[in-house]
Amino acid sequence: MTRSLTILGATGSIGRSTSDVVLSHRDEFRIEAVVGGRDAQALAEVARRLGARFAALADERGGAELREALAGSGIASGAGDAAVIEAAERDADVVLAAISGAAGLRPTHAAMKSGRRLALANKESLVCAGAAFMADAKRLGVEIMPVDSEHNALDQALAAGRNVDVEKAIITATGGPFRTWPRERIAKASAKEASAHPVWSMGSKINIDSATLMNKGLELIEAHHLFGLEAERLDVLVHPEAIVHGLVQWSDGALTAGLALPDMKVPIANALRHRERLRMDLPRLDLAAIGGLSFERPDETRFPCLSLAKAALQAGGAMPVVLNAANEIAVEAFMAGRIGFYAISEYVESVCSIFSRRNIAAPSTVSEALAIDEEARVTARQAIPAVDEQTLPQGARKGR
Ligand code: NAD
Ligand code: MG
Repeated sequence: MTRSLTILGATGSIGRSTSDVVLSHRDEFRIEAVVGGRDAQALAEVARRLGARFAALADERGGAELREALAGSGIASGAGDAAVIEAAERDADVVLAAISGAAGLRPTHAAMKSGRRLALANKESLVCAGAAFMADAKRLGVEIMPVDSEHNALDQALAAGRNVDVEKAIITATGGPFRTWPRERIAKASAKEASAHPVWSMGSKINIDSATLMNKGLELIEAHHLFGLEAERLDVLVHPEAIVHGLVQWSDGALTAGLALPDMKVPIANALRHRERLRMDLPRLDLAAIGGLSFERPDETRFPCLSLAKAALQAGGAMPVVLNAANEIAVEAFMAGRIGFYAISEYVESVCSIFSRRNIAAPSTVSEALAIDEEARVTARQAIPAVDEQTLPQGARKGR
């Protein structure tokens, strides 16, 4: 049966993998709409390739360029926030939500409110507004299928039993490019070194989050909302081969694990079709060829972002929103070469501690979440110079 699909973030890393899945199953999907951030040419190209009906660019200034690039194709287009929301709300069986960062909240929520089944890659939707998303999904009877590989594996493993019998749900991390580096060396790492992910090929921001392990921390918060598991029943295991993505430990001592080769097309295909499963023409996992799988505990001394995220999950309220916003600003500054690697965690910690005194309740709507997000960003931007001075590696200090 042909399903109609809308892709939010179609020009990104997840968007491109989704296009690959769709193009290898031409008869099974019809593309309703595609959404991109700023690159009009790239969006026009993917819209044409997939034969979308509508293309929306978030950046209003690129509207004319998009229209020109789509001339003669019969594909309608729009630019700006309203066009993005229009794309998200259009009639489709599934919306794959893969905009990066908190910018994904409104369009993703708009798709869900219109009753679209979500294949959710934008973890920030759950980190920042998890309570609102899960409550609305329940009320509207909308299914949220996780695309994030760990959560997709957990979703499959959890199908083997009852939620009350889950002792622990464990997500794995590759450990990132600095897994074996001593702290002194990590402290001097450049953005380029932090972006060199050993296994996955991803967007730039999530690459840095994988190097700091903040990505895993955000994923714990994501898992908490998706599966209704409290912090005590969630855990992280470092697994450099990235073959086992998630494990469920049951009350009888048995474990059910989700395994796959590290290729996002596998969880994307699963999220798009769920239990019906697409036939994917990808290499099969050959465990004998791999020979061994290794696991270790994460080192929260060298990777303090993981403990900051755990603390935000424990604290609850608005802390996950604050954590995520401060992290987005700090990662931006790190990628621009303005701050050192450990300044990321120091900023996040200082912004979190400012907000923790205020005991702000968990946002019950997306608008509330975005208001807290904005406030935390302002605080993070103000805090940056102060932390900057103390933590920048000598050679990386600006103007001295
Ligand atoms: P990316 O940076 O490669 O792509 C982001 C996409 O969002 C692009 O299409 C970009 O144009 C679009 N975009 C950016 N700002 C926008 C805005 N304001 N409005 C509309 N569109 C906008 O990112 P990615 O790596 O593909 O990740 C996307 C999401 O999926 C993130 O939330 C990430 O955490 C999650 N995720 C990614 C991976 C991965 O392997 N890349 C794995 C799991 C989860
Ligand atoms: Mg992941």
